[in-house]
Amino acid sequence: MEYYEPRILYGGKGRYGQYWKQIGDSKIENIPSLVPPEVYLNGIKMFNSVQIQTYEFCNLKCDFCPNHYIIWDRLEDKKKGIPYNTMSIENYTKIVKNLANLGFQGRFSPYLMNEPLLDKDRIVEFIRIAKKHLGPKVFIQMDTNGTGLTSKFLGEMIDAGLNRIQIDDYFNDEYAHRMIEACRPFNDHKDFYFLISSNYNVEQVKKKDDVSKYRTGEKAHYGPPTYWNRGGLVNVNPDIPVPQKDCDLPSSQLYIKWDGEALLCCCDWEYKVVHGNVLETSIEEVWTNESYEHYRKTLREGRRDLLQMCRKCNKGGCESNKRGVLQDV
Ligand code: SF4
Ligand code: SF4
Repeated sequence: MEYYEPRILYGGKGRYGQYWKQIGDSKIENIPSLVPPEVYLNGIKMFNSVQIQTYEFCNLKCDFCPNHYIIWDRLEDKKKGIPYNTMSIENYTKIVKNLANLGFQGRFSPYLMNEPLLDKDRIVEFIRIAKKHLGPKVFIQMDTNGTGLTSKFLGEMIDAGLNRIQIDDYFNDEYAHRMIEACRPFNDHKDFYFLISSNYNVEQVKKKDDVSKYRTGEKAHYGPPTYWNRGGLVNVNPDIPVPQKDCDLPSSQLYIKWDGEALLCCCDWEYKVVHGNVLETSIEEVWTNESYEHYRKTLREGRRDLLQMCRKCNKGGCESNKRGVLQDV
C-alpha cells in the first residue's frame, strides 16, 4: 500500500521553525537548547507538553476524526439551548499557576480535541495568561483548521505570546493561499513561525485516489501514516496493524479536558480513560497516580492488548519512507 506524504509549508523566523525547516522534526532531540530539562515528580518524569481544552467544540466533520460523529450530539444540545462546555478563565489560570509552580517548560497548547479559534473572545486572553505565568521558556503552540483566522486576529495572538500556529488545510489550494496571506505579515517575526499542513487538502487527495471513498464515512480513510485510528474510534488506515509496542503519549504529554479531567491522550474523544481531575487535586497528584503509571508501564511492556483504547490503536503501526511507501516496522 502506498501513502502520500503531507504537503507542509513553513514560514516565519521563530527558532523552532528555522530548525525544523533545516533538519526535520525527527532530529529535534539533537539540539539540546531546544529540549526542555528533565524534571521528576515523585520519581516520575514530568511531561514536556500540555494541551488544555478551553472549548468543547469543532465545526468540521473530518472523517478521519471522531468529531465527525460526536459533532451531531453537540449540535443537538446547542439546538436545545445547551451551550458548549467551556473551561472558565479562573480554572484555566489555576492550572497554569500549578504548571508554573512545577517549573514546567516545553510545549503549551490552549486546545485539545476542538477548534480553538471558535473560542474567539477568550483565546487571546488564554494565551496571554499562559505567557505571563509560564514565561519565555514555554513554547505556545496552536493547531487550528483556520476558522475565522485573519491577520488582525493572528497579530493579537502573537502579541499575547503565541509562538507557532499550525493551520490544517482541509479544503483546497485557494484556502491554503488565504491562510498564507493571513500569516504573511508575520514572516519576519523572530519569536513566531507558522506552518500550513495540507494533509487532507481535497484537491491533493483527488490527485492520489478517488476522494469519494473518504467522504462516505462507511469506507476506510487512507492517508499519511501519521493518520491513525484514534484508539479504534475511526476507520483510518485499517491495513496498518495495531503494533504491540510502546506509545509515548501518556509518558510525555498531559491532556486536560474543559472540566479539569486528565485524559489518556488526544485520541480519547469519548473520554473513556480518565486518570483524575487536576482541578480537584493537582497536576502532580494526577500525573503520578496509579492509573497513569499502569498505562505507562503496560505500554512500555508492549502490551497494548491489555489497555482500553490502546488495544485497538494502530498509532505507530507503520512508517513511510520519503516516497510515501508503507514499510514494515
Ligand atoms: S480533524 Fe480537527 S478540524 Fe477536523 S473535525 Fe477533528 S478537530 Fe475538527
Ligand atoms: S496507543 Fe493508547 S495512548 Fe497511544 S495514541 Fe493510541 S490510544 Fe492513545
